[in-house]
Amino acid sequence: MRIYNTLTRRKEEFVPRDRGKVGIYVCGPTVYGYVHVGNARPYVFFAVLARYLRSRGYRVTLVENITDVDDKIIERAREEGTSADEVARRFADAYIEDTGRLGLGRPDIEPRATEHIGEIIDLCRRLEEAGYAYETGGSVYFRVERFAGYVKLSGQKTDQMQHSEPEREGETKESPLDFAVWKAAKPGEPSWESPWGRGRPGWHIECTAMSLKYLGESFDIHGGGRDLVFPHHENEVAQAEAAGGKQFVRYWMHNGMITRREEKMSKSVGNIFLLREFLKEYDPRVLILFFVGSHYRSPLEYSRENLDEAASRLERFRNCFWRLDELLAAVEAGQLAGDGDAAALDQAVAAAEEEFHREMEDDVNTAGALAASFGLVRAVNEYAEAGQKQGAVSRGSLQRARAALASQLGILGIEFTAEDYQGGELEQELLELVEQREQARRAGDYAAADAARDRIRAAGYEVRDTPQGPKLVRRD
Ligand SMILES: [Zn+2]
Repeated sequence: MRIYNTLTRRKEEFVPRDRGKVGIYVCGPTVYGYVHVGNARPYVFFAVLARYLRSRGYRVTLVENITDVDDKIIERAREEGTSADEVARRFADAYIEDTGRLGLGRPDIEPRATEHIGEIIDLCRRLEEAGYAYETGGSVYFRVERFAGYVKLSGQKTDQMQHSEPEREGETKESPLDFAVWKAAKPGEPSWESPWGRGRPGWHIECTAMSLKYLGESFDIHGGGRDLVFPHHENEVAQAEAAGGKQFVRYWMHNGMITRREEKMSKSVGNIFLLREFLKEYDPRVLILFFVGSHYRSPLEYSRENLDEAASRLERFRNCFWRLDELLAAVEAGQLAGDGDAAALDQAVAAAEEEFHREMEDDVNTAGALAASFGLVRAVNEYAEAGQKQGAVSRGSLQRARAALASQLGILGIEFTAEDYQGGELEQELLELVEQREQARRAGDYAAADAARDRIRAAGYEVRDTPQGPKLVRRD
C-alpha cells in the first residue's frame, strides 16, 4: 500500500513499525461548541482507513483525542457564566452523540487531555531537563531555536512565521517563535498542581503526550486536517523528538478542507453546516458518500448540489441490493431458474474487487474505489435484466456479487440493514401523502392538506417547503 506522507511530500510504500499492526493517532475536536461537517471529514476518513487496514488483516489501534481544556472553552464558559468543565463535558457528549450517528463505531481509544495531566507534566519536565524548555512567570515554553529539526514537517520559513502565541502578562519569551507547553493558571481557570505552580497544559503538548502513551515512539500514522500541519503538528514533532530523540511518527496524513465558495450556496447550506443539523435533514450515509466520493487530500465543496449527488448514489446502491434480493427471492420461490450463466457476473465481481483494492492501495483513493463499486452495480443491473428475460440466473453468482458489494461498501462505511428495505416502502407511502397534500393545497382544501400532513407527522416525518418543492424530513 502506498501513502502520501506530508513529511516527505511524496507517496511512499506503507511499512508499519510492527509487523501486522498499525497505530493511528488523529487529532479530534476542541469541545467548545457543536462539531461541524468539517470536523466529520477526518473522523470519517480515518475510520475508513482503519476499516480498510483491518480488512487486509492488520490489527489497528485508532486513537482520537478530545481536547477538553483550552482557551476557547474557558472563553465560552465565561460568556455563559458557567464552568469550563461544564462546557467541555456538554460538548464532548454532543460530539460523541453526533459522530455516533454516522454509524462508523467509535475509535478504539478517545483520550481526554484533562485525564492525562500527569503524562503531560512529565513530558514538560523532560523537555526542561534536556534544555528544550524553560520556565517564565509560572508558564513553560518550548525553546524552538534549540530544536534543529523545526519546520521539517510544514516547510515553513521561520523568518516569515506568524506568531499566534503572544506573550502573556508577567512572562518573558526568549524568542517570539517559542510556544507554551504549560500555561500558568489565571484566576477562575481550570488548573492543576505542577512543579511550576498551578497551571494547565498547552494544546500541542497534550497530543504528543497522549499519542506516545497509547502508541509508543515512532508510531505509524498521525493524521488530522491540513490546517493542523502548522503550528500544531510541527510543534508535536519538536516536542516528541526533543524529549525522546527518536522519530516521532512514520507517516503524516492530512485531509483537505471543506470549502463553501459561493455566497449563495453558503447561505442555503449554512444552517446545516453543523453535523447535528445536517443529520436532521440527511441520512448519515449521504455525508459519508459525499466524503469518500473525493480523494481525502482534495478540498471538498460543501454544496446542496454535491450533497444531492451523494444522496442519489446512496439510492443507487440501495436499489441494487433490493434488486439482488428480489432475484434471489424469485429463485427461492421457483419463479426463476437458479442455475443460469455464472461467468458474466463472476467476471464483473472479480474485476470490481481487483479495481477496488488497487484504488484503496493507492493512497486510499476512495473515489476510485467507489467507482469500482458502481461498476459492479451496473454489471448487476445488466445481468438482472438479461436473467429475467432468459428466466434463469446463477444463484451463486448473485450471492457472490451481493457479498462483494456489501464488503466494499462496508469498508467505505456504508451499511444497509433490514430497516432500509422497510424504509423504502414507507418512503413511497409518504411521498404519495406529500403529493396528496400538495394537490389539496392547490385545490384550497386545507382540511385535507392538514390531514395528510398529520399522517406524515405521525410516521415521524415532516414536510419542509423548499424552493425546489416540498421535501420530506425526518423529525427529531
Ligand atoms: Zn492534536
